Amino acid sequence: MQDSVRPKDVQQHDGRSTGERPVLRSMLRGAMLKCPACGIGAMFHRYLKVSDNCPHCAEALHHHRADDAPPYFTIVIVGHIIVSLVLSVEIAYRPALWVHAALWLPLTVILTLVALPPIKGALVALQWALLMHGFDPDAKEEIGDSFEPVFPDDKGA
Ligand SMILES: [Zn+2]
Repeated sequence: MQDSVRPKDVQQHDGRSTGERPVLRSMLRGAMLKCPACGIGAMFHRYLKVSDNCPHCAEALHHHRADDAPPYFTIVIVGHIIVSLVLSVEIAYRPALWVHAALWLPLTVILTLVALPPIKGALVALQWALLMHGFDPDAKEEIGDSFEPVFPDDKGA
């Protein structure tokens, strides 16, 4: 598939590819759990553990700062699906409470576990496409050796 192959004019230096980073294509690749740069290598090496580098093209992926955005979006999406289903079933059939519990608790857990990786993949790919955080080649480490104290003159006096 032509779309999943790196264009010939794209170069790579120190795990960073040059060239265009279309947001939609990147997010779709991330949602398919693939590297946003090549679309071939796996983004995760475990369930939600992002690989440091793409196993196919070596694109650096460890710069992501997805943090709690994936759970947030998963809660929003799964919540809307489950709540609308609960209300629809309640209005249509008025089942006993144990039926609701037997239906919606497992479905919520399953849906959450299924939705979390593609949502996290899409968000990591979005950060990659927009050169956020360490994906920006001009970015400095947020906290590291270059950290400067707020009061540089105050050296333990
Ligand atoms: Zn790749």
